Amino acid sequence: MDRISDRIRKAAEIIAKAKHAVVFTGAGISAESGIPTFRGKGGLWEKYDPEEVASISGFMRNPRAFWEFSKDLLVKVKAEPNDAHKAIAELEEMGIVKAVITQNVDMLHQRAGSKKVLELHGSMSYVDCLKCGAIYVWEDIEKIIDNPACKNCGSELLKPRVVFFGEPLPSGILSEAMEESRKCDVFIAIGTSLVVYPAAHLPFMAKDHGAKLILINAEPTDKDYLFDVVIHDKAAPTMKKILEKVKELRG
Ligand code: NAD
Ligand code: ZN
Repeated sequence: MDRISDRIRKAAEIIAKAKHAVVFTGAGISAESGIPTFRGKGGLWEKYDPEEVASISGFMRNPRAFWEFSKDLLVKVKAEPNDAHKAIAELEEMGIVKAVITQNVDMLHQRAGSKKVLELHGSMSYVDCLKCGAIYVWEDIEKIIDNPACKNCGSELLKPRVVFFGEPLPSGILSEAMEESRKCDVFIAIGTSLVVYPAAHLPFMAKDHGAKLILINAEPTDKDYLFDVVIHDKAAPTMKKILEKVKELRG
């Protein structure tokens, strides 16, 4: 007997005993907040060419194409944190989760209340003018997104602090993420296809150091075999149920 409800219980039992759980998230955790993923059905790569809108060379050629694309990613949806982001923040407050490692740039973990968030791909929260060095916050840019230009020097080269294709990951954040993955006793991956490297190495590091591994993802991944508990379902309702069970178990 191995129904989803049994797996949710098993995941909750593991998490309830954890002293240092680490959560690792990808685009799938924000899908239920209305933010489309890149790959897969309905993903943004069906509509946009990643080379044009998300590579550093494409951005330098035509920054407007990126900002047009980011409307679909962030502006049109008015995304709010969902039950999965909220459950993770609550598990941190309970002293169970010690860090969230995310590939997302949408700032939803912080908005849900998570304190320790390692953003492997940066975030949209700050935007730099590459010409004069002026710094903007996301809210400033959101207002001028149809016509983004630096208020100080007029340049259109306004670059968010996200990692574009062709750029290295921030090395300090990456080493912190690897350290967290090595020292955690429970590693929970949510909404990620686990294909993008080097991020896809992290579950191996956790496993090598004896952690228990839990995966919540809508579809199977080619790394499901690594995980002690695998739940193929939506992140928000699953994390809500797991949190309820963890609270029950902890009394
Ligand atoms: P990904 O490789 O992380 O894959 C997304 C996974 O989420 C898929 O396997 C899919 O089955 C799963 N999924 C979809 N809906 C789900 C749900 N409701 N619950 C649980 N799982 C669900 O992501 P990608 O789209 O291929 O993007 C690649 C890179 O771009 C990653 O770094 C990603 O995080 C980033 N990205 C970020 C955002 C964001 O900031 N919200 C949006 C799109 C892409
Ligand atoms: Zn400027």
